Order: sequence, then structure tokens, then C-alpha cells
Amino acid sequence: MAGTVQPDLEMAASLFEALRHATQRGRGVVRDSYGAGEQAAHDIVRSAAEAAGLETSVDALGNLFVTLAGRERNAPRIIMGSHLDSVPQGGNFDGAAGVVAGLCVLSAMSRARVVPECDVSVMAIRAEESAWFDIAYLGSGGAFGLLDPDCLAIERSDNGQSLEATLQQQGFDAQPIRERRRLLEPSGIRAYLELHIEQGPTLVARGFPAAVVSGIRGCKRFRNARCTGEYGHSGAVSRPYRRDAVAATVAFLHHMETVWLRHEEAGEDLVLTAGELCTDPDMHGPSKIAGETRFVLDIRGLSAATMEAVAAEARAAAARIGAGYRVDIDLAMIFVRNEHGSHNADEAMSLEDFAVGTRALLELVLNFPL
Ligand SMILES: [Zn+2]
Repeated sequence: MAGTVQPDLEMAASLFEALRHATQRGRGVVRDSYGAGEQAAHDIVRSAAEAAGLETSVDALGNLFVTLAGRERNAPRIIMGSHLDSVPQGGNFDGAAGVVAGLCVLSAMSRARVVPECDVSVMAIRAEESAWFDIAYLGSGGAFGLLDPDCLAIERSDNGQSLEATLQQQGFDAQPIRERRRLLEPSGIRAYLELHIEQGPTLVARGFPAAVVSGIRGCKRFRNARCTGEYGHSGAVSRPYRRDAVAATVAFLHHMETVWLRHEEAGEDLVLTAGELCTDPDMHGPSKIAGETRFVLDIRGLSAATMEAVAAEARAAAARIGAGYRVDIDLAMIFVRNEHGSHNADEAMSLEDFAVGTRALLELVLNFPL
């Protein structure tokens, strides 16, 4: 069966083109979560699904479902999917590739008149990156009733509109979040399958077009870390009197590099990144000791225990190094999320590689153990 049914790759090429055309802003794409960009992407996918004769429905939070009806309509279904929002100036394929792949699989099955045992759906998930609301997984978390209702007050970063008002404006309903009500029952899902572009360089480096993911790194992030010392004259203040925020921050980050190396040498999976690091541009100067830095420390790994241990080491080091430099290193709160994606305008994915992944997805769906 799998040999005769081929994924609808012409559909993929035209969908990627339509998505890029509708949402490209400058170099990257902008599919703002619960905004015009994400909606445009949903509209494109929905019309393509309907043109292919597939069932479509949208839940109260705007997640789109495209379904090929199975023989047993009440049996737990297989869901393929991914998100259709992007980060600001994101790439065309992060998220969209998974939705498009699912659609190509369903379209191919439908054209070949394959009737699966159970329903097979594609879920185009809302606001997964959710970069505009600073809380990830709004669509999927909301669908499973897992969101804290307080999130409805979170304001969209560019216009200050609350999530609740934004949902309302888009024609969706905040009530399920308020009631922590499930829109999707886990018992009704036989399997969830997702194709996603790789974030890291491994597949390219090793020459594989596609591969099965063995794990996704979780993330603990000190999002709003701050080191506070005292501004002073670079020539006049000797070491014993300095409270140099830059020197302390560098010492702290260097120490975390040695922590990373140690865990790595012990064979643990771990990556540490300080992707943002700045002095205050209104206050800093070439002949000033910096009195403040702000930075982010992003800790990722396959093991929650490793990340927890590293976060604890970061807190201890912040206290110790802060005291040594007479500054406060304040790691603020910790955000926990499991994020993935390539997140830049230069995302590259060849349609040939996409085809390998999509064929694998099709074979999996066609041969799924029931
Ligand atoms: Zn993604």
C-alpha cells in the first residue's frame, strides 16, 4: 500500500510558496500568534484542505483540524501536526513543514481512496511559539485544559492587548481556558506524529535527509538575570573599591562554561547559552566601570535532573561570585519551556529532504499498528 500511495508534493510546494508570499515581511516571515500573520497561514491551509475534499473544523481556541474520515469514526484517532505561528522574522518552514506534511499525507490518501481504520487528522496548532505573549504552547496547552487562567491577562508585547481581548477580537473563546476545560481528550488520540525541521546542524553534518528524533532538549531559562554593582570612573577606582558588573558577569558566565564542560565530560547532554548580554546604553561609557548588566542564561538538556543541577550551580555561583565582586547577581525567575525550531529567516529546507520525511510520515500512518 505504502509503495503505491505517494505524498502530494506538488501541494507542498504550492503551500510553502503561498505561505511565504502571504507572510514575508522583509527577510523573514511574520506569523504573529493570534494575529494577522498566523490567521493568513490558517486560511491558506484551510482552503487547501477543503479544495482537497478533506473535513475541516476549528476549535474554540482557533486550532484548525483537517480530517480524513476513518472506518471507525469513534475510535481514537491519529493526529499529525505542528504550529503555524512563527517567531518575529522567522523562517518559512518552522512549524509549517509539519502541517504541510500532514496535509500532503491526507491528500495523497484521499486521492488514492484509502480509508484508514480510524480518523486521521492534521492539527494546525495556534500560538505555539507565542513570541508575542511570552507564554508558549497556548493552542495545545489550551486544548488540553492545561493553561493557568491568569495567562488571559498577559498582554501582547507590541500593542498591549490582553490575550483574552485578542482571542475575542479574533472570534475565539477564552472560556475553556478560564474553566481549564479540555477541548481534546487524550483518550481520543491514538498517536501524535510531528514532522519538524531540525534546529541544529546534525543531519546536514551527517548527511541524512531526515531522521527520527530521539529526544528534544528541555529548557530552563534565567530570562531576566541582572547584575547590579556601582558605576565609577575607570581610572580613579582601584580594585578593592570596585563593584564592576561587567567583570562579575564575565566571571559568572565563564564559570558556567566550566560547569557545562564538566557535565559534558561526564557524558551528559547539555547546552548553555547567554544569547543576550548588555550594559545600559543610557548609563555606560568607555571610561566608566559598568554598574549594571542584564543577561539571559538559557540551559537546555535531555535530562530534567541535569538542568535542575545546573540551575542550582548557577544560583550558587551567582551568590559566590557576586560576593567576590561586591555586586548582586540576581537570576530572577525561571521560565520552563520545551522549545524547538530554527527561528531565523535563513531557515533552509530542500523539498527533496521534506519529501523523505513526508514519505516516512505517510508510511507510518498507513502502517500504524491498531
Ligand atoms: Zn517549531
